[in-house]
Amino acid sequence: MAEINRAIKGTNDMLPVDSHKFQFVEGKMLEIASLYGFREIRVPVFEHTEVFQRSVGDTTDVVQKEMYTFDDKGGRSITLRPELTAGVVRSVIEHGIVNGALPAKVCYIGGCYRYEKPQAGRLREFHQFGVECFGASSPAADAEVISLGLQVLETVGIKNISLEINSIGCPECRKNYHKALSEYFASHIDTLCETCRDRLSRNPMRILDCKSPVCSSLAADAPKVIDFLCDECQNHFDGVKAHLDAADIKYTVNPQIVRGLDYYTKTVFEFVSGDIGAQSTVCGGGRYDGLVSQMGGPQVSALGFGMGIERLMLALQNQNADFPEAKKCDIYIAPMGNAAALKATALCTALRHDGFEAQCDVCGRGLKAQMKYADKIGALYSIVVGDNELSENKGSIKNMKSGDTFEVSFDNFSEQFMKIKLDDALSSLEESVM
Ligand code: ATP
Ligand code: MG
Repeated sequence: MAEINRAIKGTNDMLPVDSHKFQFVEGKMLEIASLYGFREIRVPVFEHTEVFQRSVGDTTDVVQKEMYTFDDKGGRSITLRPELTAGVVRSVIEHGIVNGALPAKVCYIGGCYRYEKPQAGRLREFHQFGVECFGASSPAADAEVISLGLQVLETVGIKNISLEINSIGCPECRKNYHKALSEYFASHIDTLCETCRDRLSRNPMRILDCKSPVCSSLAADAPKVIDFLCDECQNHFDGVKAHLDAADIKYTVNPQIVRGLDYYTKTVFEFVSGDIGAQSTVCGGGRYDGLVSQMGGPQVSALGFGMGIERLMLALQNQNADFPEAKKCDIYIAPMGNAAALKATALCTALRHDGFEAQCDVCGRGLKAQMKYADKIGALYSIVVGDNELSENKGSIKNMKSGDTFEVSFDNFSEQFMKIKLDDALSSLEESVM
């Protein structure tokens, strides 16, 4: 197939046969977020490049290698968002939300763009569900956000998921830590990859996140940030653990987690799935108390997470998770002839206004072809409208599965159809109970 007839590498089409699964998962995400007081925010897909450079961080993989950056026709440097936190922070500052009632809680679902090597669970266009909470400095907020993430994962039916937490401290405790880390890596400088040699002077913590085998094996024995926490950060971390215990949430402390973006402080966490291979982190997040002021806003603490929707779907698929069934056409109306076609249009219109999915012929097909189509789309009921039906102002609704038929008048059609559907649902419920 010619290249232009194929989607760009690392992008996915969400097809109509799968959309109900995404709608179910995304619906649960927003619904559960709202139980915790998080309201949806939508921000642009692109921002000034600087928004990401300043927040995600100049020394991160995302900014150094993965951004889709281009000059627009006005000569401005624009970047397709690699994540949403930066844009959300820009927005809550711009609209004064961080100067209003705090905590301010927002959530989002949106596309993200990263120039990465496409593989299972790693795309160039992917989607994140995320939440951000501004102005809450207590450890209770960390546990609340984690609890929200867990409730979403549990509600969509994921199994075999574990929560790993860590604290990477504040800039104060990181001063000592950076020193110890730099000394450690400096003594292994010949083994480090080229990028990490550069990171050593600029931001040694980034080396801990390097995916190259040599750097990651060195990282395993490196000093741990958790051993360098100041009293305040240690107390905060103890508080987070206490609140997680109070919410009966199981976790392990993993001192290796540092997260790939620069803006994190104190708590960081990941939800990891055992069912999607190497790209195992379904959700990552943490606290970023310095980001809002760094981006030109007031000093307010903040925290949040981003959950990869495609990775979550992959895990669910690998676990053969159950999804609610796709909605089916309630009734297919098959007219024969022009006058009947007008009646079909009238009946469909009424049915749709009463909340039923109704379809009728829009191709000018004969009866046989119409019934074949009704079968293909899995219509639950059908009705044929011909000259006899028109003259008698009534017809026969057929249950496509059982073959049962029901005489109905064309007056109050929706009401009668509703009753037939309900009766059938009740009797199949009774059958399944017996
Ligand atoms: P990774 O270590 O896997 O590269 P990351 O640290 O870059 O992840 P974040 O920036 O924290 O990821 O993004 C949060 C979540 O978004 C990830 O946990 C993952 O589920 C999802 N995600 C990140 N990058 C991709 C991608 N290229 N394709 C699909 N999902 C992704
Ligand atoms: Mg990454």
